Amino acid sequence: MVRAGTHSIADIRMLKRKIEVQACEDLSNLMHPMALWKNNSAALVVCRMMDDVDWDCFIDFYDKDQSEVGKRVKFQKRICEFSLATMYPFSLRCCLKGKLSRWFPEDQCESFSFKAIDILNTIKNTAPCIVFAVVSMWCNGWCTDGRFQGDTIKCLVCSECDGRDKLEHYADCMYAWDAGKKCTGITDMSEDLVTLLGFNSKDFGECVLLSVYAYALKRHIDSRRAMACAAPKSNVYRNVWSGFQVAAIYSRRVRTILGQRLF
Ligand SMILES: [Zn+2]
Repeated sequence: MVRAGTHSIADIRMLKRKIEVQACEDLSNLMHPMALWKNNSAALVVCRMMDDVDWDCFIDFYDKDQSEVGKRVKFQKRICEFSLATMYPFSLRCCLKGKLSRWFPEDQCESFSFKAIDILNTIKNTAPCIVFAVVSMWCNGWCTDGRFQGDTIKCLVCSECDGRDKLEHYADCMYAWDAGKKCTGITDMSEDLVTLLGFNSKDFGECVLLSVYAYALKRHIDSRRAMACAAPKSNVYRNVWSGFQVAAIYSRRVRTILGQRLF
């Protein structure tokens, strides 16, 4: 059905007829196991799903669109949105709540998941690299040794740190936070995982600054991983700050918040 969006309207009409034929719900002539199988088959699921929608709307929508390429893209998008939401219901908040449960008890995950959606709404127009760093951090997706159950690589933020290469340590690393506090200008924040994840941010500015810090920290760690050695202490602030400068290039909002400090 989704693939049909890439073809012509005739293909789509034919596919609809095919699904209707294959999804005949008369199971009386089938042996019991076959009837059970058919009852759960994809054709029946799709057909029942199609019963819930005004199919003519799709056809009209397709026919009215002017450009041939535009028709296919828009129709495919409509079909994807409809079929994915019906067959695979997805809630970003519930998904994030599940991801956060590796660190926090359920009641905290519930409130943090709402906060996460607020943060996403705040930073969505900054820069994709910032959003990616934040979302992957919430999902424990940073490419650390700890992410892959390792415990041998040392903290990559600073060569003087004895911590391990894992997100939980970076949320606790004094060398990282020293740089983070200088870069964000927020000196009174606590140095813990909740703060790194952005859930302690009190206002719009703090939310953006902590998100940029997450991006800059990830960028610093990734670059040191590529060099296979931690940064000398004297370089930590400079490297993290360069992440802020890169973020400012891509985002006017970040430039506005950092203001004169950029120059
Ligand atoms: Zn460290």
